[in-house]
Amino acid sequence: MTADIIDGKAFAATVRARVAARVAELGDNEMVPGLAVILVGDDPASQVYVRNKRKQTIEAGMRSEEVRLGADTSESELLQHIARLNADPTIHGILVQLPLPPQIDTLRVLDAVDPAKDVDGFHVTNVGRLATGQAAMVPCTPLGCLMLLKDRLGSLAGREAVVVGRSNIVGKPMAQLLLRENCTVTVAHSRTRDLAEVCRRAEILVAAVGQPRLVKGDWIRPGATVIDVGINRIEEDGKSRLVGDVDFASAIEVAGAITPVPGGVGPMTIACLLANTLTAYCRLHDVPELA
Ligand code: NDP
Repeated sequence: MTADIIDGKAFAATVRARVAARVAELGDNEMVPGLAVILVGDDPASQVYVRNKRKQTIEAGMRSEEVRLGADTSESELLQHIARLNADPTIHGILVQLPLPPQIDTLRVLDAVDPAKDVDGFHVTNVGRLATGQAAMVPCTPLGCLMLLKDRLGSLAGREAVVVGRSNIVGKPMAQLLLRENCTVTVAHSRTRDLAEVCRRAEILVAAVGQPRLVKGDWIRPGATVIDVGINRIEEDGKSRLVGDVDFASAIEVAGAITPVPGGVGPMTIACLLANTLTAYCRLHDVPELA
């Protein structure tokens, strides 16, 4: 038996449709949720992400504002843009596309975003609120992973979950979310001893490492649900292709279900950004959130 493929692309389309339907219910154009995306510099991958975000924001019926700044922008200039957007009542979500150029202190910039408009969930207030079980803006990628897991498994309570990777944007918030769902959570990283053995414990295995095909089929517990967050561009057979952090060909023989790369977690990230913008709007305007 080979694993079921978890279709993140299709699931993301249903999330976007639900967001769009709720936005349409809100009525009047001046009151629609607004998302501002700030791009500093000309990193080609970031440009593609920002373009996709804008397109999908507009398709969901929301207002999209794009702030494009040169690679030599100073930190104080960027902070001024953030202050303006914080004060703008038509903007409900602010996203600063990472990475930022080296002259800018990323943590200082992320902490300048109003936590109520922090749709990336990277502000220290939201990180703390998530960790202490309070209503928070939750980072989009782990939120998308959680949605896929709950859709597949229903209740996650009591399950053994292993998250490989402990970054602030994926691994750590993923672990917090799984803990909130009452999983027994192990967080593995580059200093973990016998990673393969740790992974074999997992009923839920989330790989967010940034190493192409690191996780092999024989690291996976039979029947486990595997979420592959990795997006790695490699050259293979003279072609450039995207692969995950999981060796898909061997993993599919062992897992119960697995997300593909591309078409798994990736599309969920933008869908969750739209969902977070709607959530921020609802909280700022004190109207019911999307169920
Ligand atoms: P980071 O580089 O910030 O973190 C990687 C983590 O993996 C670190 O905690 C590191 O450990 C750990 N790690 C690295 N090598 C190993 C190893 N050999 N064994 C065990 N652990 C290891 O990456 P991100 O969290 O930002 O991203 C992870 C992946 O997810 C990337 O491929 C990225 O492109 C992708 N991604 C995909 C998104 C999507 O929308 N689908 C969104 C964001 C990221 P240590 O802390 O010890 O250094």
